[in-house]
Amino acid sequence: MFGIGLPELAILFSVVLLVKTVSTLVDVLKSEFTGSNKIIWFLVVLFLPLFGIIAYHFIGSKQKITDKQSTFSEKNCPYCAEVIKAEAKICRFCGKELPKLANETI
Ligand SMILES: [Zn+2]
Repeated sequence: MFGIGLPELAILFSVVLLVKTVSTLVDVLKSEFTGSNKIIWFLVVLFLPLFGIIAYHFIGSKQKITDKQSTFSEKNCPYCAEVIKAEAKICRFCGKELPKLANETI
């Protein structure tokens, strides 16, 4: 009776790694990323499980587009300088039409 030996530990490690890989892939698929980072992280985690999971948790989580960010993103109207939503096409204060792609804060 040797209890838990090396083969059992190897199996346990493989199972944990597999579960972690699948859960990370699910997390990648459920999240929104800037640019084409989604497919990149999916492939990294799929082909480099251990490295991919660690890298994803440190770097990938910062590239995620969270609902909070998109809901609270605001900018200043270039005409009246009031704070309006970043997605706004017409200023709700002065009623002027806003130029497209004004993502940077003015
Ligand atoms: Zn305005």
